[in-house]
Amino acid sequence: MATYRYRCETDGPRDVVRPIGTAEGTLDCPECGVAMPRVFAVPMLALGSSSARSLIERTERSRERPDVVSAPPPAARRGPAPSTNPAWSRLPRP
Ligand SMILES: [Zn+2]
Repeated sequence: MATYRYRCETDGPRDVVRPIGTAEGTLDCPECGVAMPRVFAVPMLALGSSSARSLIERTERSRERPDVVSAPPPAARRGPAPSTNPAWSRLPRP
């Protein structure tokens, strides 16, 4: 089942649950009877789980109000991990 949205000019948006692929292009408004065109909207990804919702909210918040930090994260400060390849020991050192 999927949720489809239609918008009536006078009564506003209406959500209708139907099997996937069975939504009509227009639907008669239950309030005034006028044909409502279907509206395409973002899938309800944010309603999935609380962790997905908080990740989406943090990502959207970082666009305009990113978190302020005073130093790079600990893993980035150490640099890349040393290689275990023995051929690298023969390379010149800085
Ligand atoms: Zn209506």
